[in-house]
Amino acid sequence: MLQTSVISFSAGHFDTDVLVVGAGPTGLALAVALASRGVRATVIDRLAEGANSSRAAVVHARTLEVLEPLGVAAQLVERGVQAQRFTIRDRDRVLVPIAFDRLPTDYPYTLMVSQAVTEQVLLERLVDLGGQVLRPRQLVDLAQDALGATVTLDDGSRLRARYVVGADGMHSTVRERAAIAFSGGSYGESFVLADVRLSGAVPDAEVILYFSPAGMVVVAPLPGGVHRIVATVADAPEQPSAAYVQALLDARGPEHERATVHEVVWGSRFRVHHRIADSYRAGRVVLAGDAAHVHSPAGGQGMNAGILDAVRLSRALVKALAGDVSALDSYGSERRPVAQQVVALADRLTRLATVRPALRALRNLVLSALSMLPVFRRNLAWRLSGLVYR
Ligand SMILES: Cc1cc2nc3c(=O)[nH]c(=O)nc-3n(C[C@H](O)[C@H](O)[C@H](O)COP(=O)(O)OP(=O)(O)OC[C@H]3O[C@@H](n4cnc5c(N)ncnc54)[C@H](O)[C@@H]3O)c2cc1C
Repeated sequence: MLQTSVISFSAGHFDTDVLVVGAGPTGLALAVALASRGVRATVIDRLAEGANSSRAAVVHARTLEVLEPLGVAAQLVERGVQAQRFTIRDRDRVLVPIAFDRLPTDYPYTLMVSQAVTEQVLLERLVDLGGQVLRPRQLVDLAQDALGATVTLDDGSRLRARYVVGADGMHSTVRERAAIAFSGGSYGESFVLADVRLSGAVPDAEVILYFSPAGMVVVAPLPGGVHRIVATVADAPEQPSAAYVQALLDARGPEHERATVHEVVWGSRFRVHHRIADSYRAGRVVLAGDAAHVHSPAGGQGMNAGILDAVRLSRALVKALAGDVSALDSYGSERRPVAQQVVALADRLTRLATVRPALRALRNLVLSALSMLPVFRRNLAWRLSGLVYR
């Protein structure tokens, strides 16, 4: 067990090889991947316990592929719902049908499962491998030298590590203390999220993205007969009511056979930014997940990109600990362009979804024509499933 209160410092003394700051999906996946490679990292999180809410609910095929060797994929699949189809629709009209069930992978679907479950499964695996998360421990400062980094926690104690990973989310203190800029901007609109009980015209094994001049709305199945609704709105309420979600679906969702909202099980809102860290590494500090990139949830890419960062970074850290520090630069030069692609895809989907009414018919025509082309459907399926990042 780590003693954080009394530590004597010398440049050659290390409490841990890798300090992972943040036990969200990125930090947990990194700790599991490092442990499975024989590196025992120290993981800290400022919260007394993990956030127990739904948040990012989409797990892509590629994410399951990289989690499989870590002994995590089967448990996740067991606890999620498999959506074999993804469609883009304008009200009742299907513009683009994408089938995941023909993808060359052991996971030919989008897995729908709440982020709380994903974090729980990762934590259980970390504990199986002998690891743990130290809570509540908040990083408040960080200083580097040639050999390592010294971090100060909120209780005044200090920890010395060879490498520090900032997996501490969008408002990353690690990123800020390492003086890495987070360039980009914010979208004007906000997102409303609601996990609801629905009846009516809602398929159980399909993720649907409805385009509408008022904004887009996503309807996706979750375990337990619940559906996730995500919509772009000018000013989302803090807690969306059933009536509010009903009005969104009535205005943007299926038209002929109505979907009826009976209950909101969980609801939230968030404002979305599109920002990417100027660099993924500064000396002994490396960034991953939301600390390195944030974007619109269109396409459900955020958490998936963070988990892929984590698994790729574990390989780089093993090499860096063995003396090949350039591996950390390769990690950044491989993963940063992926974040740029994710931002661009989410951006394109958002703009396509919300074209002006005058352009709507043209957009629908072009999309319907494109979706006749197998290569177009295949490219979209590969991108949305993350297989393109293999
Ligand atoms: C309400 C909400 C809804 C969302 N919905 C979606 C969605 O529908 N689709 C989607 O793709 N994404 C969604 N997201 C975003 C998604 O949750 C993130 O992309 C994902 O959690 C990123 O994982 P992460 O591990 O990189 O960062 P985080 O999950 O943010 O984890 C960071 C961790 O670091 C800890 N931490 C922060 N600072 C410190 C510090 N100084 N010291 C110690 N610990 C620290 C935090 O407590 C936290 O546990 C949503 C987010 C929110 C908040």
